[in-house]
Amino acid sequence: MPFLEPDNPVYPLPQTSQWLAETLRYVVHNVPFYKKLFDSKKPTLDEFPFMDPARGAFKIEEFLVLDRFPDFLLPSGGTSGRMSQLTFRNLEEYENRFCYLYDMRPGQYFHPSVIREFGISIAAGGNLHYQPPHGYPVLYTPLENLGHAEAIRYLLEHGFQFDGRRIPLTTISCSVTWIKLLTAYFQATGFNPPSVHLEIGGWHLTRVWKELLKEFWKGEVDLVYGVTEFNYANASSCEHCGFLHFPETVYVEFVSFDGRHSVEQGDAMLVLTSLYPFVTVHPRIRYWTGDVVEVRGVCTKARAMSFVFLGRREHILFVKSDGDLYRVISAVNVAEVLDMFKEICDDDRLFILFQQEHALGPIAADRGSKLFAISSRQGENGETQFVISVEVKRDNQELRKRILDSLHSECPRLEDDCRRFGISMEVNLLPKGGLRALGIPYIHV
Ligand SMILES: [Zn+2]
Repeated sequence: MPFLEPDNPVYPLPQTSQWLAETLRYVVHNVPFYKKLFDSKKPTLDEFPFMDPARGAFKIEEFLVLDRFPDFLLPSGGTSGRMSQLTFRNLEEYENRFCYLYDMRPGQYFHPSVIREFGISIAAGGNLHYQPPHGYPVLYTPLENLGHAEAIRYLLEHGFQFDGRRIPLTTISCSVTWIKLLTAYFQATGFNPPSVHLEIGGWHLTRVWKELLKEFWKGEVDLVYGVTEFNYANASSCEHCGFLHFPETVYVEFVSFDGRHSVEQGDAMLVLTSLYPFVTVHPRIRYWTGDVVEVRGVCTKARAMSFVFLGRREHILFVKSDGDLYRVISAVNVAEVLDMFKEICDDDRLFILFQQEHALGPIAADRGSKLFAISSRQGENGETQFVISVEVKRDNQELRKRILDSLHSECPRLEDDCRRFGISMEVNLLPKGGLRALGIPYIHV
């Protein structure tokens, strides 16, 4: 019997601690780096060193289990301009994830009668952003050219013919970048989609864009925090507390910036451990994601730690305070503010790429797809200057002041912090193309 009815669980209750114990045993016996390090001892998780992504990239074979040839190679970890890495995967991992997601055994699939609607996941490389319910298939689709966009439009308009019925497309799961592109394209071509639920990951989604997406797609917009390096380890929005939680298929640690202690409330580095059997070829133990989150305590409903994504470590401006780092402003705060200003130039690289072989005229991209850089420097009087650089259509002092005022409204403690730590906030307005010429890394929202 190839089909499985719902309410027939294959996996028992979440078993993160057993999976973790199994994972640690597995890597000490099979991963060259840990084999050498522990010499068949039985270390606990906190005896493992944090895994630096750069070391993992340059000594990749030290971190692989090659008991058979891998089936996939994914580029990963490249969001927000960080250097992308490679991740090895195999079919069994996908099968394990699929079985876990849908509560089914290998080889089983939904009974046709349970399928009433379906979703698509755009350009996610087989990395599903969220957990769909039983009987809700999700198809992966690229979005590299207008043909793909038209195919998505067809599915939205007509649904999909299956088992003698038309089944509607009701969820789109994709990154912030891709949904902006798809939305702008549909707006430019006058397409009015049916109501769709969006699951958006990849980076922070600003309030301006969230509202715009809600209005255009006429459905709920939920945020997802995804880590491509892991197989099915994406945190999703919680209806109860409104923050993010990871699923039980990944082991999560929130640690201080120096890595010395765990954090239960406030700013922390996000450290993740992949779990067996969802990751077997390329396990990552105590993986230092480089992302900073704000821990918001335990959610009583989900019985998991809640958190908010604050951005990459290098995209946050800190000061030293009481021997620790104190966050003054993050790229997420800046993105929220910049999206309010139409005078700031948009990042049109993707839109140009999308249209390169077609002559459809410009796609409206004036809804806040911004490029910016944040940096710090020493002022003439020795004070610390935090500088936000953006490209603008026309330079004017009044715009600079409005951006600064909005930053202060966005970050209520900013004024006090500036006084306390002797910081001055500057907004650097550049002509189009000026960020590249500036020669510092910039952030693509
Ligand atoms: Zn919650």
